[in-house]
Parts: sequence; C-alpha cells; structure tokens
Amino acid sequence: MARYTDGVCKLCRREGAKLYLKGERCYTEKCAFARRPYAPGEHGQGRRKPTEYAFQLREKQKIRRAYGLLEKQFALYFDRADRMKGLTGENLLILLERRLDNAVYRAGFAVSRRDARQLVRHGHVLVNGKKTNIPSLLVREKDVIEIKAKGSKRVGAAVELSKSRQAVKWLSVDADNLKATVNAMPARDDIDLDFNEQLVVELYSK
Ligand code: SF4
Repeated sequence: MARYTDGVCKLCRREGAKLYLKGERCYTEKCAFARRPYAPGEHGQGRRKPTEYAFQLREKQKIRRAYGLLEKQFALYFDRADRMKGLTGENLLILLERRLDNAVYRAGFAVSRRDARQLVRHGHVLVNGKKTNIPSLLVREKDVIEIKAKGSKRVGAAVELSKSRQAVKWLSVDADNLKATVNAMPARDDIDLDFNEQLVVELYSK
C-alpha cells in the first residue's frame, strides 16, 4: 500500500490550518504552522485570489490529509457516505472518525493518527480481545479497544500528552488499563477540527 512519506508540517502550511500530524511538537511553539502560517514554496506568500474550485479542493485536501488518507481511499469513503441515508458530508466525517486508527488517537493512546496507524499495523491493538492490524476497520458501538503494549513509554507519553486535548464523548477511556469503549457512534459535533464538509460534497458533485 502506497503512503505519504514526505514532511507533514508542510501539509498544515499548505492547508492553512493546524492538522496535528506530528504529535507533541504540534502543541509547542516549534509548530511550523505557528511560525510560518503561509503555504510553503516560493509563491507561498502570494496573494492570488482563490477560485471557488480552489476553496473546495483545499477543503477536501485538508480533511484527507488530517486523516492521513490517499486520494483513492478518500474517494471510496465519499462514495460510501453518498450511498448512506442523511447528509453526505456529515456521513463522510463520521465514517472517517470511526476508523480504528482515529479511535486509538482519539482515545489518547497515540500522539497522532499516524502514530496510531503504526500501533495498529504492528499488532499492538486489540478490538474486543482480538488482535487486528487493519487501521481502516470501522469501530462500532460497544467495541472495546485495548493496547497490548502496556509498559510502552511511547504509549505512556501519548496518554500524558492527550490530557491537554479535549476528551471525545463517544469513547469512554480507561487510561490506566489502556482500554477504551465505544459508547456511541461519533457525531458531527465531536469533530473538533474546523472542516467545511459541504465544500467536499460540492467538489465531488461537479
Ligand atoms: Fe502541523 Fe503539527 Fe507540524 Fe504544527 S507541528 S505544522 S500542527 S504537523
């Protein structure tokens, strides 16, 4: 499976928002976006007026990059969201939020979604007592997510760091035992990043 391996801070700078892709550094003054809040590259500080299409494209890229997905994966989520009842944009965000790697990050067991994905991939995560290495698995109500690597300094540091983040309502977390239970499906209000999913719907409707 292909994946993005280049520096992640330039993605935040490109999208004009903090996407919290790097973990601890995102919460310090070393954050690249806090220091240089303009797009990277020679023309990053240019003042060209963005078109409507550019707005829609940037919003799609922002959401896609926040969740660490490739273009094709994101398009598949959109297709699925479009076939569901309700608002497509909201369905899309809820599907992304239900990914196992996101749930591990939201529970505070990893410093970023990327870190969470690695924990899952390396087999350190159990779902309902069974080892799973599929970061895209969609969690369901009553699922119990557990971290196997109990004494891990990396997970301990993530739990410590997560105390500065707002806890999500749809997970109840037992940080001492590194366990989290999905007590409800995530709702649109639980997504704290500033996304305008309607722009993505407009982009894909063209
Ligand atoms: Fe984005 Fe974090 Fe890098 Fe800041 S430190 S630019 S929030 S990835």
